[in-house]
Amino acid sequence: MAERPDYYKTLGVGKNASDEEIKKAYRRLARKYHPDRNAGDKKAEERFKEISQAHDVLSDADKRKQYDRGQGPLGGFGQNFDPSSFPGGFGDILSNLFGGGGGGGGGGGGTGRGGPARGPRPAEARGHDLETEVSLSFVDAIAGTQVPLAVPTSQPCPTCKGTGAKPGTQPRVCPVCNGRGVEAQSQGIFSISQPCSNCGGSGTVIDQPCPTCQGSGAQKSVRRLRVNIPAGVRDGTRIKLAGKGDPGVRGAAPGDLYVITRVKPSPVFKWSGDNLEVEVPLTIPEAIRGAIVEVPTLNGTKRLRVPHGTKHGTIQRLRGEGPPRPGGKGHGDLRYRFVIDVPATLSAEQADAVDRLSEVMNGDPRAKLFANAGGEG
Ligand SMILES: [Zn+2]
Ligand SMILES: [Zn+2]
Repeated sequence: MAERPDYYKTLGVGKNASDEEIKKAYRRLARKYHPDRNAGDKKAEERFKEISQAHDVLSDADKRKQYDRGQGPLGGFGQNFDPSSFPGGFGDILSNLFGGGGGGGGGGGGTGRGGPARGPRPAEARGHDLETEVSLSFVDAIAGTQVPLAVPTSQPCPTCKGTGAKPGTQPRVCPVCNGRGVEAQSQGIFSISQPCSNCGGSGTVIDQPCPTCQGSGAQKSVRRLRVNIPAGVRDGTRIKLAGKGDPGVRGAAPGDLYVITRVKPSPVFKWSGDNLEVEVPLTIPEAIRGAIVEVPTLNGTKRLRVPHGTKHGTIQRLRGEGPPRPGGKGHGDLRYRFVIDVPATLSAEQADAVDRLSEVMNGDPRAKLFANAGGEG
């Protein structure tokens, strides 16, 4: 009798591996050694058989118990390995493993559709997430807006309703695989299956392809929708629109649509935390004497009183008049930073005025630097 194989070793998992661990290990290895990716490689083929066999046993609670008790050696259940015993057939496993969308719900005559449920539907069957960008002006991003979006997606072809067959004709059950989408090949005591070479795994053959989609059953389309951009978004904000991605395979949940905002920077308002900051130049006399200056806000302008003796870099705030904070938590501030505008060139008249100012401003503002420089004691 052949030696009893160590299925745990085959999958590289421990004896106490959970169902989830077994499934993961199987998927990883099956991807690696799948015949599709290793055409003609006999060793890979052999490995793939072993992996499938091990998974067949360890993923089934009853078979696993039996195996753990030391029963069911290779000659026991191994020879009956038949991928069609999987609910939905082998094609279903393939599409789950490789994320292929399945060929338009084919294989009506498949075996085991009514078989035991395999738990929650794998994530791959869910529709793809989509991502798109919108360009916004700074003002629109702060105020919030609604933008039209055109999202490329694919939908069942309207001419053939997704079958891929010319209207009036039907896809025919593939005579080679009888609709199962797989071809079983006997190899020793195993039978291993591969995607059907005649129908490519869809289980059906199309004699007269649909003229609209050339038999693919899908049509590229553009979905148009309007998206509400909440007030206060910044460059790179991701807005999730749940369920607005691609439709799921065979009735599974659709994916999500992510809208990423691209916001043109403002030449005037600069982000500073939750606030916006504006640099406001003052002339030298304005800084010395004080002034009333007009400044921009997010809606119109305001007058600010600049006190006399305002120093370079002084900030005045308009509290709560800044951008909306994320999550509806009120508004940030507008911050006005006063900077003293020092002219690089002077007219003759200005030069005279500065000379006169210089004569009368005769105190030394740096004297205290040296008064304290000798140390505290
Ligand atoms: Zn076929
Ligand atoms: Zn079509």
